Amino acid sequence: MEDSERKKDQEKATGRRKKFCPQCGSTDIFFARGLPQLWSIWECRNCGYYGAFIVEDGVTSQKIREEWARKHKANSKAKASD
Ligand SMILES: [Zn+2]
Repeated sequence: MEDSERKKDQEKATGRRKKFCPQCGSTDIFFARGLPQLWSIWECRNCGYYGAFIVEDGVTSQKIREEWARKHKANSKAKASD
C-alpha cells in the first residue's frame, strides 16, 4: 500500500517537473521531433535552440537565464554604440 502510494507521488513529481532551455533558460520549449519518452528533439521559442539536451533543474536554469541576460545586454549595448 505504502509503496504504491510512493510510486504515485514519484510519478506526480516527475510529471510536474519543469523543463528549461539549456541555452537561455526559458520554459517556453516544446517537442520538435520524437516521442516524449524516447530520444526527442526540443525547440525553444525564446532563443531558437534546437536539440536533444534539456535542463530539468531550476537552479541551473536560473544561472543560464542570468548568463543569457548578461550576454544579451552586452550584445545590445555593443549594437547600440555602433
Ligand atoms: Zn532558449
